[in-house]
Amino acid sequence: MHEIDSLYDKIRRRILLLNRAVEGSTELEALREEVDAIGEELQGTRSEQQDLELESRSLTEKIRESETSLMSGELQNPRELEALQSSIDAMKEHRTDLENRSVERLVMVDSLQATFEKKQANLVDNEQQWTDRKTAFETEIDKRKREYIYLKKARAQVADVLSEENLEMYEHLRRRKNGVAVALLEDEICGACHTQVAVGILNKIRYSDDLLSCPSCGRILLNEG
Ligand SMILES: [Zn+2]
Repeated sequence: MHEIDSLYDKIRRRILLLNRAVEGSTELEALREEVDAIGEELQGTRSEQQDLELESRSLTEKIRESETSLMSGELQNPRELEALQSSIDAMKEHRTDLENRSVERLVMVDSLQATFEKKQANLVDNEQQWTDRKTAFETEIDKRKREYIYLKKARAQVADVLSEENLEMYEHLRRRKNGVAVALLEDEICGACHTQVAVGILNKIRYSDDLLSCPSCGRILLNEG
């Protein structure tokens, strides 16, 4: 009974662990957030650069208009001409500043773009790995659940045996088998006496609700897979 109980607990804990594992990966979540953040920064920098370029272009237009006006001879007053000239100079200085900032943004965009692509490719790889791992977890959960159900039946049946006069026989089997009344079936071999179990018996174990005993040593066989 003790062997069944400890195996039962082991499988129950394993199922709980797997159920938690398939819920999601915090590592993957962190990667997604990182890629999102870089993507936002990239977009923000790109739009800043475009704004700077637009501003610079409209300033160029204003400079051109002012220069046309300066050359047209419309203005005769030297003070007015001087004011217009210094306004042109100030606009040009501002434009140079805009252009410098625009170039800085362009360099940043290139660098962010490269980082973004690298991180995104890494994320895609990780997503794939996670999907594979999740599939493996889910397959194992199915398998463990079948074992769990089988063990639940085994416990009930052994409890029946223990509650009846067969207890003596069970105890006898335990004593005779060095305290082990149950054995795990591993790769079609009885885990206790290492006898190969016939395929017909294996199929019965897999597809029936009945408990089966090792044909050689008589221990109750627990199917581990
Ligand atoms: Zn055996």
